[in-house]
Amino acid sequence: MVRRLAIVGGGPKAVAIAAKAEVLQEEGLLDCEIHVFESKEIGASWTGRHGYTDGEQALCTPAEKDLGFPYAEMPGAPEAAEKMMARYSWGTFKASRGYADWVDLGRRRASHREFAEYLMWAFDRSGAALHLGEVTRLERARITGRQAREGWKVEWKEGAGKAQLLGTFFDGVVVTGHGPARPLGPTNSPRMLDGQRLWTKRERDRALGLLGTRAVSEDAPLVVIGSGGTAAAVLAWLARQGHRDLPIYLLAEQATFYSRGNSVFENRLFSDPTQWKALTHATRKAFFERLTRGVVWDAVMEELVQLSALKFIDGRATDITAAGAGNLTLQWKRNLSQLELDLGDEETHQVEAGLVINATGFDNWWFLRLLPPGAIPSDRKERADLLERLAHGMGEDLTFRDGWTLPRLHAPFQSMLVGPGFASLLALGDMADRVLRPYMK
Ligand SMILES: Cc1cc2nc3c(=O)[nH]c(=O)nc-3n(C[C@H](O)[C@H](O)[C@H](O)COP(=O)(O)OP(=O)(O)OC[C@H]3O[C@@H](n4cnc5c(N)ncnc54)[C@H](O)[C@@H]3O)c2cc1C
Repeated sequence: MVRRLAIVGGGPKAVAIAAKAEVLQEEGLLDCEIHVFESKEIGASWTGRHGYTDGEQALCTPAEKDLGFPYAEMPGAPEAAEKMMARYSWGTFKASRGYADWVDLGRRRASHREFAEYLMWAFDRSGAALHLGEVTRLERARITGRQAREGWKVEWKEGAGKAQLLGTFFDGVVVTGHGPARPLGPTNSPRMLDGQRLWTKRERDRALGLLGTRAVSEDAPLVVIGSGGTAAAVLAWLARQGHRDLPIYLLAEQATFYSRGNSVFENRLFSDPTQWKALTHATRKAFFERLTRGVVWDAVMEELVQLSALKFIDGRATDITAAGAGNLTLQWKRNLSQLELDLGDEETHQVEAGLVINATGFDNWWFLRLLPPGAIPSDRKERADLLERLAHGMGEDLTFRDGWTLPRLHAPFQSMLVGPGFASLLALGDMADRVLRPYMK
């Protein structure tokens, strides 16, 4: 019986699954068509043509943690890891375009654009089906009779065309991607940018233009909200553009950037599922947050130290409104404990900003809007409780289980409790094995 898997988004997760599926089909272990729905192009979030990056930034993690990493043996498929290495590894990609130069030059870190080229190269080899268009809705579907089962139909639209429901039945759907920037403040103000939009050429030129006309000064500094990887990438870019003395306030709920280096003990936890499984949920959560929230890779930190007028403000933005001379007024409250709040110490502070960059991160649950009406409660508290339950109860195949009433939906981005590397690029091979396992013969 042929099965079909739909993947929403043509990034590294989709390509890793498509590549592993090709290898397993050849081994006779899988009979599953892979259909990738991508609204822009394969690797779009990495090319520099569609936001999130200018394409020139270097990958923080080594590209050798590639589509097949960590190349662990998949139960029942002893040759799959070797074939993945031969066909889809970063080394094989480099061998197709100047391997000796890459090694002789000290194995320079890959840029995001080069990583996107790797994804396009690998996707072409995989032979998976590509549907170029935006997925707008997922509909519950059922096959009756001898092969009765539940699954999905996909509604999508090509370019500016009308959304249409594809007749194909899918046994499962994988949702990928970190979603759009979380909205904050007057998003249409020319003085407001976010970590998704800033990277398009038009917005970068606009930001540099504003800095060139001295819109940002001691009296109206640049305010960056958030202190994670997005904020660090924006600041490193400003340093590279020569804006090293720019007055910058970094408003975040932590006192500084915490740094992340290359630790063999941390790396092992990303690559070794047995060691990970031995940890309690609380320890897993603490590990994941320590390494992903508000931490900056050492290589990026080296660029940030050049910013001489960077000042940290411990607080949370509460309001952003238009002020005189095109500026924005940004209000914040300090990051207080319950005890301090009980003492009534909740003063509102404000600063007039020449430019505000929202680097608070992305909406990782963006795909909920694709689900049938009523699947997720509209009440804030009920919704938050359900999302917590879904993330905690996720199965080994990265599908929601506890609290889930719909057909099989794999959501690697929410799977940090199953494995710390499945939300990022750190265990793409293992992530693909887990997603494909339910469809194997
Ligand atoms: C700039 C940047 C740098 C990063 N660097 C690293 C790093 O060095 N190491 C690391 O481990 N992690 C890094 N990350 C984290 C990174 O998000 C994940 O590791 C990785 O992107 C996940 O890949 P993905 O395939 O899930 O998503 P993506 O690569 O984001 O792919 C999602 C795709 O979905 C498409 N799409 C979105 N909505 C729809 C829709 N409705 N229909 C159809 N297509 C849609 C988008 O166009 C996009 O191509 C970085 C993230 C960013 C933003």
